[in-house]
Amino acid sequence: MEVKLKELRQKLEKQCQINQELQNHNRDLEKRLIAKDRLLDELQTRLDASSLRDHDIGIHEVRQSRAAVMAPEPIPEEPHFPASRVKKTASERAQILKATGRNDFLSRLDDEQISMVVEALASSDCCPGDEVIKEGMEGDSLYIVAAGELQVTQAGRHLRTLTPGDVFGELAILYNCKRTASVKAVTPVRLWCIERQTYRSIMASKSKKKREQLMSFLKTARTLKSLNDEQLSNIIDSMEEVKFQDNEVIVREGAEGDTFYIILKGEVLVTKKVNGQQKVVRKLGEGQHFGELALMREILRTATCTAVGPVTCFSIDKEVFEETIPIESLELHDDSDLETVSTSEKERPDSIIKLRDLIPVLYQEGRYQGDPVTLGLGGFGRVELVTTLHHGRYFAMKKVSKKLIVERRQGAHMLFEKRILQEIRSDFVVRLYAAFKDTRYIYMLMEFCSGGEIWTKLKEAGRFDENTAVFVVACVVEAFVYLHKKSIMYRDLKPENLMLDSRGYVKLVDFGFAKELKRGQKTYSFCGTPEYMAPEIIQNQGHDFAADFWSLGVLVYELLVGSPPFSSSEPQKIYSQILDGVMRFPPHMGEAARSLASKLCRLRPGQRLGNTKNGIKDVRNHRWFNSINWHKLRMGQMEAPTVKLIRKGPCYINFDRFPFDKSLAEEEFSEWDRDF
Ligand code: ATP
Ligand code: MG
Repeated sequence: MEVKLKELRQKLEKQCQINQELQNHNRDLEKRLIAKDRLLDELQTRLDASSLRDHDIGIHEVRQSRAAVMAPEPIPEEPHFPASRVKKTASERAQILKATGRNDFLSRLDDEQISMVVEALASSDCCPGDEVIKEGMEGDSLYIVAAGELQVTQAGRHLRTLTPGDVFGELAILYNCKRTASVKAVTPVRLWCIERQTYRSIMASKSKKKREQLMSFLKTARTLKSLNDEQLSNIIDSMEEVKFQDNEVIVREGAEGDTFYIILKGEVLVTKKVNGQQKVVRKLGEGQHFGELALMREILRTATCTAVGPVTCFSIDKEVFEETIPIESLELHDDSDLETVSTSEKERPDSIIKLRDLIPVLYQEGRYQGDPVTLGLGGFGRVELVTTLHHGRYFAMKKVSKKLIVERRQGAHMLFEKRILQEIRSDFVVRLYAAFKDTRYIYMLMEFCSGGEIWTKLKEAGRFDENTAVFVVACVVEAFVYLHKKSIMYRDLKPENLMLDSRGYVKLVDFGFAKELKRGQKTYSFCGTPEYMAPEIIQNQGHDFAADFWSLGVLVYELLVGSPPFSSSEPQKIYSQILDGVMRFPPHMGEAARSLASKLCRLRPGQRLGNTKNGIKDVRNHRWFNSINWHKLRMGQMEAPTVKLIRKGPCYINFDRFPFDKSLAEEEFSEWDRDF
């Protein structure tokens, strides 16, 4: 009996053990099932998102007619806060702000608008199973999830799960549209919500108030005195709000001025350099403005304006201003105390440098020790590193044989390169300080870009990370903004012509192909570098500024991929690839970069980003540049991710080394260079 009992007990224990193991196994399977479910959910969401995106692209490419939309209700004069709104605790407020900041749509509102929206939010609670939004019904509210979980479905298909901080239904606060999906509470849910009427009344009253305020500010600008209300209102329509942090430089002395600012909030300190010291000129407050003259003519800022504490300004660029107001209707008032001198009065401290003052910098070690440093060889000459006894500053000096120029009929190009470079004052274009000539050579004394060529860095790195590429291209965009405004096409964009300065900022060099062109005109010359050439150049259809945007697209691609999109060892093949215009993207290239590159490299120049109605603004506003603060970039206040590419050591360390050329070019006396 005892033996039997023991046996039974053993059997039972064994059975228990097996059961336990089975249970464990089951639990494990269950967990894996849940994980798989989640993965499936996620994949489905991604699939939906990407099919939505594809759909979007479709809409852009094949223009479909779409129903017009409108909000039927009249807007109340004053902001209208619903009785149902509730007071929010600090943590609720923080949660809401985080949610609005993450939302593509709400994050565009200004601080005041957001805080009014937060104040107006009502709260509502739902039980599991409650339907907040029903597919096909007209909607009038936007919701933010405060607590709980909801499920979004479309035609019964699960799209995604909403959790605290998610925003949904936003289209309904703009106009009465049919909901395209249903949203159902899965758990007990708490929501923040705002109705269209409330939202619109807040927006309208806010912008009305702002307009009135701006109008009164604009009326105090002497230059704009003769404009009527309609014209002033047009200006306001074109203005943009910009924010500055404490100590941020808004306008820098010596920089080219092209923007007019009105201070909406905060104070701005105006300083001027006197005998090498910054002297305070005055302090400007709310409603005051600066940069008035920049709207009318080419000026250099003669004072620095810095934010004291946080500052909000309303600004308008000359370019936009000119599209808004006929220049004849303005009265010119010199407020030179503040900031302006005409271009003819530009100081040229460097033009006093003489050729004989320049001494070559020598290699300190290595194979060429004791020889003069050559920074680069071009198609026509070489660029050497020089310094002056007095300054102790470095310069890059391009030296080209006059005989060779004549032989290759490049005289006109050289003259143009010199003339253009001399006129240019942009932090994104290499500065030309002086030009000299003797019987054998012409010389161009340029700012030394000590960081080396982007080309070299790209070859070393293989390809650039997104951050670096975005920064490099952003600098080029700034250079193009400047050049195009001056009616200059660059026409030879490529990594070889981009140099890094010591801070990692990128500058365009080599203006051998640049050309001046009036808006609306075309030029028919065939020039550029095959891989970067626009199709209309290849087909001789006549080209203009749009060709630069094409090459910008090629640059985006090459920096991220390491090789250009259209390439072959045979130029003919490159050209036929360009004319096909099909870009193939490697998997690692991000979606935003692909979008930008394809929009810049559209075959039809008229459809190319940068060359449509909004001009280069569209390029700046492209999402690939989201990390760029364009104002800071222009002010040189953005940290350059490119600094990591710059090697430390002797001043020529970022350049290849070249043997010294002891030969002397032949003399040349045909006088083509009379104006050089
Ligand atoms: P090509 O027309 O064949 O491109 P080029 O004769 O016009 O050449 P550049 O392209 O202006 O000459 O310069 C040749 C090389 O010299 C550049 O690729 C670069 O390496 C170096 N270089 C040019 N300008 C500078 C500068 N300002 N600072 C440092 N290096 C420079
Ligand atoms: Mg070059």
